Amino acid sequence: MTITKPNRRDMLFMAAAAPALGLPARQAQAEISAPDAAQPAYHRFRVGEARITIVSDGYLGVPASGLGVNADPREVAAFLKAHYLSQTQSYAHTNHAVIDLNDARILVDVGAGNRFLPTEGRLMDNLASAGIDPSSITHVVITHAHPDHIWGIRDDFDEPILPDAEYIIGAAEYDWWMAPGRVLQLPERLQQFGAGAVNSLKTEGLEWTMARDGHEVAPGVRLMATFGHTPGHMSVMVESNDNRLLVLGDSMTHAYISIERPEWVAGFDMEPELTVKTRKRLLEMAASERIAVVGYHFPFPGVGHVMPVDGGYRFIPALWRWEA
Ligand SMILES: [Zn+2]
Repeated sequence: MTITKPNRRDMLFMAAAAPALGLPARQAQAEISAPDAAQPAYHRFRVGEARITIVSDGYLGVPASGLGVNADPREVAAFLKAHYLSQTQSYAHTNHAVIDLNDARILVDVGAGNRFLPTEGRLMDNLASAGIDPSSITHVVITHAHPDHIWGIRDDFDEPILPDAEYIIGAAEYDWWMAPGRVLQLPERLQQFGAGAVNSLKTEGLEWTMARDGHEVAPGVRLMATFGHTPGHMSVMVESNDNRLLVLGDSMTHAYISIERPEWVAGFDMEPELTVKTRKRLLEMAASERIAVVGYHFPFPGVGHVMPVDGGYRFIPALWRWEA
């Protein structure tokens, strides 16, 4: 197979064909409906001196059969039902963090653009709603090279959407996807993911900064190696005035399953054992050190805390306020 440029039509076909990823369900499964008017687009708060804006790229609908793939399906179904979630279709938000601290303005991940699912690709519009001029973004951190996180890196003319920013990715992540012959080594259903990762990483006009564990993006913002979901996945730690926020990326993909059942992995957790090990380490750290977290696929805006409970953990959404 030659490395092609996947287009949206290919991806929709692939998505419909792949057992682990499908088209979003048309009907809402929950007992409460979608908001009547405009969807929430951004949410802004502070962590110490850092100003954080969570900006949505839209959502993904994925079959619930891709959740807890190493668990008894009846247990997974019971868990979802108990959490008032659909047992057939999982609705995953896509929450990007924009971190303003000192002179840096850091965007975490670039979303799917118009190359993946039609329910995504709203990042640039929502940045505009949030009053964030794309040219003011100084750094782009890519947590990992899955389609919903990186395919939006270039526009319809294959130009980088943010040409002037510094682009940073884990060295291990870059090397893994770019290894010669990688795409062909992937299971067939993931080969388009591989081709899309390679094409995104090869975007003309971009130079990559290769990061290792502890890489300082800017003062107060460091990367943490959180391998497992992908072989070189990175999370982002923001620290200011003793306050900390951990931008999880996909080290935890589900606000309830990843936290209450960290040993259950999803179909897209590429290294299952390492995923679980990393997740447990992060949960222990977030709970014992009272670090706020934001999950890319958690319910918007995806910000909260990890509460220890009965030998395990629970996600507590942050109580946000109209005034500081
Ligand atoms: Zn993702």
